[in-house]
Amino acid sequence: MKHEAVIVQCPRCKSRNRIPASRTGEQARCGTCHGPITSPGVFHRPVEVTDAGFKDDVLAYPGAVLVDFWAPWCGPCRTVTPILDQLAEAYAGKIKIAKINVDENPQTASRFSIRSIPTLLFFKDGTLVNSLTGARSRQELERYIQSVI
Ligand SMILES: [Zn+2]
Repeated sequence: MKHEAVIVQCPRCKSRNRIPASRTGEQARCGTCHGPITSPGVFHRPVEVTDAGFKDDVLAYPGAVLVDFWAPWCGPCRTVTPILDQLAEAYAGKIKIAKINVDENPQTASRFSIRSIPTLLFFKDGTLVNSLTGARSRQELERYIQSVI
């Protein structure tokens, strides 16, 4: 088994839960606070990832992930943000959209040689399959998403 479990953060208490890959798509409950947690594979909003969580949240994720490398001071990033919010809803269950703040997470930015932002990396089953730099239209981003899902 390549991917036996995925890690999903509880939206209420922020604790990290291991979900067996065989239960992907089912309703799950947080092991700490027992609140409902969104099953892996069905994210309606972009999720924040960090240097510490990148391995579990992106590289170990069984499916397609779009990672937006951004920073609060970056003007073009603010153009992309609302588009990614819309795409997360439109493609919920098909692709996980993640955001990583490069100022707070320099290790991951360095690892992928991010030199300008926004940079969007597309992963499929933990493998980097495509990348885009600079603000893009929703139509263009959708073409890239459709090529990885
Ligand atoms: Zn919880």
